[in-house]
Amino acid sequence: MKYKRILLKLSGEALMGEKKYGIDSNRLEQYAQEIKKIKDLGVEIAIVIGGGNIFRGVQAERTGIDRVQGDYMGMLATLINAMALQSSLEQNGMYTRLMSGIKVESVCEPFIRRRAIRHLEKGRIVIFGAGIGNPYFTTDSTAALRAIEIEADVVLKGTRVDGVYTADPEKDKSATKYGTLSFQEAYEKNLNIMDMTAFTLCQENNLPIIVFDMNVPGNLENLVKGEEIGTLISS
Ligand code: UDP
Repeated sequence: MKYKRILLKLSGEALMGEKKYGIDSNRLEQYAQEIKKIKDLGVEIAIVIGGGNIFRGVQAERTGIDRVQGDYMGMLATLINAMALQSSLEQNGMYTRLMSGIKVESVCEPFIRRRAIRHLEKGRIVIFGAGIGNPYFTTDSTAALRAIEIEADVVLKGTRVDGVYTADPEKDKSATKYGTLSFQEAYEKNLNIMDMTAFTLCQENNLPIIVFDMNVPGNLENLVKGEEIGTLISS
């Protein structure tokens, strides 16, 4: 196994599947099965999930809601996704703990680093909901920060494209995929991999990122086994 402890970042939008809003139960089930494959290999798994399928803070400003208020709404949206994912993982026989960046005591534990690590050591999948718990951040930054805190080997950013391209492959057919990139190259080429806060955190802490297509069955499993899938960004 190449990676023993991973942090999987899933966007909220990925959970929409074919839908225009909210959560697609088929997609949730598909992700649970993919995660189970690596759980069965003994990989320690932490997950950060976004909230873009429900609400984003920047959206709030357009509707006249204050930005900070909107960001808290976004954080709560990630918690809804996290609860749905938790339920789906448990239905597939996995043990989980949901830890939140903001206190929601009736539904989940607060994030406590040592406790998160202990859960992982005991084989529980830890889902980090509500982002970092502060406005003006994203779940990509949460993924980078939590990965560093729990000493994950890598951030696996599951998307619907199979890596980082020279241009948007959905718009430009001549775009080609990078197999590997250094942080410096990605920065100089202005490639939009994660927001700058997240990206800098990974770079400064030597934490590799792999961008891959989460919707291809077996990709996650083959990645943790060491197969070269997607795009690896490292120092
Ligand atoms: N958010 C926040 N602080 C955090 C994480 C998230 O304020 O630490 C808010 C922010 O408004 C963001 C929303 O939660 O737009 C949903 O997260 P994100 O946009 O990262 O979700 P994704 O794009 O991955 O679905």
